[in-house]
Amino acid sequence: MGAEENISENPVCWACGAAMPPENNYCGKCGQGRGRFVHWYYKHTGAVFLTLTIGPFALYFIWRSPVLSRGAKCAYTAIISIVTWYVASAILGFWRFVRDLTAAARF
Ligand SMILES: [Zn+2]
Repeated sequence: MGAEENISENPVCWACGAAMPPENNYCGKCGQGRGRFVHWYYKHTGAVFLTLTIGPFALYFIWRSPVLSRGAKCAYTAIISIVTWYVASAILGFWRFVRDLTAAARF
């Protein structure tokens, strides 16, 4: 039995585990939505937006998300790792460029 089946049979909040009546779209305890009422930052649009704004910290929300599949989470993790590596090497390259520039300026 998968996690999704568990939610429909025994309605509890995916975030805090509090009992959640089927007619409620949001948890009365922690305020998290479920299904299509899940907060935007747990969806694909949120994953993309957070990756562009907070970088690797977006992984926190991606892995907590109840709506993204495991495959999607792994794909986002791979993409974010590559982007983080690329940005880090770009910053390092720029830092080396500035350092070489200031070193050359002394002569
Ligand atoms: Zn809750």
